[in-house]
This record gives sequence, structure tokens and C-alpha cells, in this order.
Amino acid sequence: MGKVIKLDRLLIERIAAGEVVERPASVVKELIENSIDAGADIIKIDISDAGLKKIRVTDNGIGMEQDDAVLALERYTTSKIKNLEDLERITTLGFRGEALASISAVSRMVIITRTKNSDIGTKVTAEAGVIKNVEPIGAPVGTSVTVYDLFFNAPARLKFLKSKMIELSHIVDVVTKYALIFPEISFELIHDGSVLISSPKSENILEKLVHIYGTDIARNMVEVDGSTNGVHLFGYTSKPAITRSTRKGMHIYVNRRFVISDLFYKAILDGYRSMFFKGRYPICVLNIDLDPSDIDVNVHPSKLEVKFKDSDKIFNLISSTVRNALLSTELEPEVRVERVIEETLPKKIEIGESLTPLKDIKKTVEPTSIPQTKSLIQTTLEKTVLGEKEIKALSEKYKLPWTLVGQVARLFIIAFDNENVYIIDQHAAHERILYESFLNEYESGKIKIQNLLEPVLISLSFKEALVLMDNLETLKSLGFDISPFGENSFLIRAVPVIMKKTATTSDLQEFIDELLNLEDVKKKNFPAVHKIISLIACKSAIKDNDILDHETMAKLIKDLHTIPKDPYHCPHGRPTILTIPLKRLWHLFKRT
Ligand code: ADP
Ligand code: MG
Repeated sequence: MGKVIKLDRLLIERIAAGEVVERPASVVKELIENSIDAGADIIKIDISDAGLKKIRVTDNGIGMEQDDAVLALERYTTSKIKNLEDLERITTLGFRGEALASISAVSRMVIITRTKNSDIGTKVTAEAGVIKNVEPIGAPVGTSVTVYDLFFNAPARLKFLKSKMIELSHIVDVVTKYALIFPEISFELIHDGSVLISSPKSENILEKLVHIYGTDIARNMVEVDGSTNGVHLFGYTSKPAITRSTRKGMHIYVNRRFVISDLFYKAILDGYRSMFFKGRYPICVLNIDLDPSDIDVNVHPSKLEVKFKDSDKIFNLISSTVRNALLSTELEPEVRVERVIEETLPKKIEIGESLTPLKDIKKTVEPTSIPQTKSLIQTTLEKTVLGEKEIKALSEKYKLPWTLVGQVARLFIIAFDNENVYIIDQHAAHERILYESFLNEYESGKIKIQNLLEPVLISLSFKEALVLMDNLETLKSLGFDISPFGENSFLIRAVPVIMKKTATTSDLQEFIDELLNLEDVKKKNFPAVHKIISLIACKSAIKDNDILDHETMAKLIKDLHTIPKDPYHCPHGRPTILTIPLKRLWHLFKRT
């Protein structure tokens, strides 16, 4: 190492830019925040090439005088705070005074702005953090900031960017988040000339939810409203029947700044406890308003994380308000019952009389526990262990290599032969079988297609719709007929036959949801086909907790034996069959 030197200003700015400007979406976020802080009620975001060629944010806010516009480009210049006390009581979205400086350090920037007090506007041109030109220009009141060639002088940053589609989807996400929480502002996002988001001024958040998620979802949102000394939680959250497989639909804000907060997410999920299963997440738009001095927003350069001073109070407020809101709403009894039956009880119930009444089962649906009560397991056992005659008949019919004993705990099938006892995971095994046969159909180009009697309509967020659009061809080759239907909805007209039992709206919505979240699908790592086939197999397979009749079990064992390679693992790599040698049992019982 050599001598210590002081870095020059431009270099410092390039380094700092890395913290604030991670990707095109960070630019969009900072510029939108500036427009909101400037009191705009119309914000238009116009981008080309996922933001890499151009990002222009135009607002009708208060604008800047010429000297302010020039100064604003320097680091640590802000009109929002003056002293330390101000920093503790921040009411604006910006305050660090570094966004414009950081963005201009890694781009070519043009600012055009005018205040209502001047007749003529100002145009400032900068490149790589250096102001090149300042001139008067005719302009409407407000500001437009255009960022060309982002990262043109930071090739390392460029390399870190994901595919254009992913960068674009992050931008869509930022605009979605602000559009939802500022209903009084109209937002429009245009990419390469096509409108991706058009979210006009609205009366309230619910109306914005209609624009962003569609009426179906908006109709299933519950209002959440509650306060404790000085803290107010308000927003909407989905009924338990509407869940997603990721947290992407959970939009959370503090003083209308969108944030990432584990405490917040956990508290919301706590409010839903026992209403849906682990690994599911609601859609929500929830904001906490509190005294700015009760939080620290200055813990993260892009202001995404917040620290609450009294975190217990906040947790309890969120959890209890969400819970009360859910409990006091009609949770559409049909939907609830359907879900309970689907998820805790098998499709083919042959022991109806002895089942625990539905009412009681509802209570036992805890997300983490094994979902059935003791009495249920016992009932199952009695009915599923085979008698000698039946074993014989079945073995002959299916020419089974193993002798079938029965099902335990609604998950495992027990069988044996002269050497081993076999324990089969019914879901994993069936998944494996379906995977093989569907892959076979796919590879030989003979996928059997089931037209749906009634097409199923699914609605997605803009971001998800984009991903789905990109995968329509792949899905077509797998037997799906899906076409765009309105802004962010799709019609499914046909599915592969293998999925015909799970072709209800909720199943298909869930399937598409999970599909769009497969890493390979998101990152466009084609061919993602095998992953999609695994998912199809998983969705179509016998579930944990399904009671199986003996025919089904026998057929399953039979089919497992026809799999050419490795029947011992499911497509995800989990075991399907556990083999316990009889010798081992003798040994364990000290008989040797
Ligand atoms: P910060 O938002 O933290 O103050 P920025 O670098 O984002 O820092 O902006 C610097 C200053 O430029 C702001 O404080 C504001 O006075 C002015 N400014 C930036 N964007 C706009 C805009 N769209 N309309 C009006 N003034 C703006
Ligand atoms: Mg700012």
C-alpha cells in the first residue's frame, strides 16, 4: 500500500453513487420521490430500454429557480432539512441531498424546470457529474429530469444488472408501490412507447388497487384501520383465500415511504395466524403514520429500511389490527370451507360419518402443525390397513412386486417383500410418476390437452403479467392455451390433461403464481421447461393428507416400478421410497 491521499470530488461521487444508484429502478425511485416532495399531483415516467437508454420523470410540482437547479446537482444540497433537529423530524421522502448528484455522476442528465414565479424556465445539462451547460428555456411549471445512458461511465455496474426484463420489472414495482400509497397523485409509466401503468388520481387506496390488481382482487380486500397513542395503521389486506407464494404483493410503508421491515412483515403474518398455511403471503397495502421522531430512516442509503424506536408497540398494533379486521369481515364461507376441505381433507372421503366436524377442524388448521387431529389418524388407520384376502386380490390384479399393507398418517404407504419393508411418500412418489409420464408426452410432442368448459380468468400484477407474456410460448408447448385478456388479466382456455383436476380458478391462479416465481422463469434461464414440468407434476399429484383407497395405492406402487431411472427421488430430489431391510429390523429387535 502506498501513501494516503484525499480523493478528488468526482471520484468520491462515483463511489457514493454506487450506494444510491444500484439499478435503473433506483433512479426511478429517487426521481419520483423528488416529484412527490415537490408537491406534484401528476407524475409521468417515460423510459426506454428498461431505463438504460433513458429515464424521464416529469412532474407538475413547484419547480426550481435557476440557481437552485444548478446547486441541486451538487452533493449534500437539499431544500428539505437545515439542521440536526430537522433530520429527526423528516416529513419529506428525500433529505440526504445526494440523489441528483449521485445519478448525474453515472449518467448524462438534463433538468428542465420552472417555478410559477418565473416566466422562463431553466435547462441544466450535466455529464458524469460535471455541469456542461445552463440556459433559459420555455417550459411548463414543474420539473422534468431526464437521465440518459445510465452507467455509461460505470461498466462494472452495468455488468451487475440482471436481464432487461428483470430491471423493467423492478421499475414497475417502484411505480406500483408509489401509485398505491399516493392515491391523490396520477402516475403513468411508459416503456418504449407502451403504457405499462396508468393509474389516475383516485379517491382512495382501494380505487388504486383496482387499477393495479384488478377488480377481483380489490373486491377481496379488507380495510385495516387502528391506532395506539400517536401511531396509526391504515390500509387494505387480502382475505385469507387470496394468498401468494411470495412476499411480493405485500406493500408496506412508514409515513408513506415504502420500506422493507421484517418486523412489519412478521406482524402482518401474525395477524393471519392459522388462517392459511406457512409459506403463503397476503396481498396488502399498509401504511403506518407516526411521529417522524419515533423512527430512524437514516439507516440505509436508499432509505429503504427503517428502525422503530418502540418495536413491540408497533408489532402489536399491526398484528392485532390486521387480525381484528379479518375476523370482523365475512370471510365468504364457501371459500373458507372449500379451502379447509382441500387442504386438510382428502378428495375421496369414504369415512364421512366418523370425521371430526368441520367446525373443529378449522380450529386445528395451524400453519405449522401436522394438520390432523389424533382421532383422525386413528380412523384413517383402521380403514386403510388391508386384510389378507384383499392383499391377495390386489397383488394379483396389479402383479405387485411388493405386498401392500396400507396407509399411515395420510402420507405414507407401507409395503413389504421378502427382504425389505418399504415406506413410500405418497406425494413425492406420485409427483415422480407424473413427472416421468408428462416429460414423455412433452418430448414425443404428444401432450394431451383438456379444453376447459369455462375459460378461467386470472389476474396478475403488471410485473407478473410481463413475465407471463414472455413465457406464453413455452406454456403453449406444454399444452396450455393462455391469452392476454385486458390490461393485466389472462384467459386460460386449455390445460394439459394431467392438470384437469386442478383446473379451478384458485388452483390455476396459484399455479401461475408459483410458476412466475420460479427462479429460472424469472431470470429467463431457458430451457426452464423441466422446472415447469416439475411444478405441473407437483400440482397435479396426490397431496399429503389425501386418504387413498387401496386401488390407488396399488397403482402407485405399480407405476413407480415402471420408472426407468431413479424412482427413489422426486423431481425436486427428495426421497420417494424409504427401504428398511428386514434384517435391520431383526437386528433392532435383538433377534440376531
Ligand atoms: P433530496 O431529495 O435528498 O433533497 P436530491 O439530490 O434528490 O436531494 O435533490 C436536491 C434538491 O433538488 C431537493 O432538495 C429539491 O430542492 C430539488 N429538487 C430535486 N428534484 C426536484 C423536483 N422534481 N422538483 C422540485 N425540486 C426538486
Ligand atoms: Mg431526493
